[in-house]
Amino acid sequence: MRIATITNWAYGATVCLTIASGIVMLMASNADTVERQAVLQRQVFDQLTEDVETDAWALSDLARLYVVKKEPQILSEYRQKESTLQSIETRLTRLKDNGATDEELAVLHEGLKIIDELQDEQQSAIASVARDEAPQAVSLLYGDPYEQELDRVQSQIDHFRLLLDKRALTAVTDATRTSKALRTLSEIMVGTTALLFLFVLGFILKRRVLRPVVRLSDVVHRLASQDYAVETPNFNQIDEIGDMAQAIRIFRENGLARQRLEKERDADWAIRELLARMTQRLQGCENFADVINVAELFAPNIAPGIAGRLYILDRDPWQMRCVAEWLSPDGQNTPFHPDECWAVRRGQSHPPVNGEPDIACYHLPETSLNNTLCVPLIAQGEAIGLLTFQNITPETAPSRAYLELMAEALGLALANQRLRDALLEKALFDPLTGLRNRHHLEDTLRTQMAQAMRNHEPVSCLMIDIDHFKSINDRFGHEAGDQVIKSVASIVQRAVHDSGLAFRYGGEEFLAILSGANEDAAQACATDIFNSVHDLSLRYGLSEIGPVDVSIGIASYPQHAQSDSLLRAADVALYRAKELGRARIVSFGMLETG
Ligand code: GH3
Ligand code: MG
Ligand code: MG
Repeated sequence: MRIATITNWAYGATVCLTIASGIVMLMASNADTVERQAVLQRQVFDQLTEDVETDAWALSDLARLYVVKKEPQILSEYRQKESTLQSIETRLTRLKDNGATDEELAVLHEGLKIIDELQDEQQSAIASVARDEAPQAVSLLYGDPYEQELDRVQSQIDHFRLLLDKRALTAVTDATRTSKALRTLSEIMVGTTALLFLFVLGFILKRRVLRPVVRLSDVVHRLASQDYAVETPNFNQIDEIGDMAQAIRIFRENGLARQRLEKERDADWAIRELLARMTQRLQGCENFADVINVAELFAPNIAPGIAGRLYILDRDPWQMRCVAEWLSPDGQNTPFHPDECWAVRRGQSHPPVNGEPDIACYHLPETSLNNTLCVPLIAQGEAIGLLTFQNITPETAPSRAYLELMAEALGLALANQRLRDALLEKALFDPLTGLRNRHHLEDTLRTQMAQAMRNHEPVSCLMIDIDHFKSINDRFGHEAGDQVIKSVASIVQRAVHDSGLAFRYGGEEFLAILSGANEDAAQACATDIFNSVHDLSLRYGLSEIGPVDVSIGIASYPQHAQSDSLLRAADVALYRAKELGRARIVSFGMLETG
């Protein structure tokens, strides 16, 4: 209710109460008038009764005096008095007019009747005197019956007075009580008016104005300092305070909305920055392990609280293999066929819309069928990996666009890594045999030698050359020659596998560096290679290639050569083996002694 309405109501109530108390006061004064009237009436009745009594007694006394003295003057006085006496009806009418009740009039009427009878007796006594029968007249007016009649008159008049007294007393008492009650009522009304006035004033000032204003002022103060957590008071009353509270509520809601937007914008910026940083780190990755580490670190920060996995597509076997996971996702991280994922099949995030009914990917665990988002890692239009995000909801996850950006960056990084690995392999390894080529031989040898010198360990070098290879080419063709090269290469690779590195040094020449191997160990390894090649039974198509032999030169550090001349020493030994007729092993040590 508006304060103005309350004030109007209070004003109306005050006016009504004031008028009512005025009326009650008037009624109280009216009760006083009734009291006064009752007293006045009592006086009038007393006067009338007094007259009746005085007249009756005066007449009786004159009659009695006359019958004793018999003087005509007394008789004349009697007659005169008698003529002035009013009749019973006249007296009763006057009394009735002045408010006497029927009961009171009946009592007085009885007395007046007796007075009339006494007058009759007085008349007969006066008549007896006229007939000179004075003794009878005296006995009539002085006799006991006459006296008794007089007493009855007196008693009736007393009774009448008693009734009047009673009625007057009742009227006065009633009027006094009414007057007192009305005055009390009037005082209560005045008091109530005053209390109402004070209450309304106090209520309006304290409860409806002062307290709300203090509270609102506190809220406004906190809102001004951008403390939007403050609760706005719930003043729902329809008045000026209610309007202010409503305005402050709207102001706070707007502030909260703005704060929320700012928070979202900040979170947005934070994610963009994270994405940018992740992209930069991905650019610096040198191998798959680096890429995986970056993904594992950034994914749970870009999508906080959301578990996930990173899969990479393997070509052999053709499968998606989990290489990283974060925040303990549900289900096993076992590999699966790429066709089991709708995102990989479609080349787009799946499901396309959160919460809508859609087909679930077959590789997902039962527990997270409906709340997992799969984002394929695309490179040159092909899916080369996959990101899965579990328990994803619109409230918890960042925008899908960010997850797709993350997938794009990871896809690019993985594709780069693949390309880089392919190039590196091409640069380092011989495509025919799979052995290292001689491009990085120098670096590798330097490293091995440095390690050996540091550890005071020997290093041996085997130079291996297929004998009369040209004739194999000539007889069976180049492809057959390739096959022989591959076979010998795999024997060399197997023989040095645990302890050294194998290189294709030239067309049909191979090199083995054996770390930690002295001349004897190198000799054993060379013998192994020599025998294995000799025992080869090679066919090309229907024709048998026939026995193949190799010549091997051995040189060991520090026995035969220093670090920078080891290759040269081995080459010399090989040359010597060729000179001696091929199909043999020659150690550089043998040259020195021989
Ligand atoms: P020697 O016993 O003195 O080593 O005689 P050789 O015939 O083995 O050596 P030569 O240097 O005379 O001939 C090597 C031949 O190897 C010449 C070349 O055509 C052939 N060759 C080099 N690289 C390859 C290759 O990758 N594949 C094939 N099939 N032949 C190759
Ligand atoms: Mg050769
Ligand atoms: Mg040769």
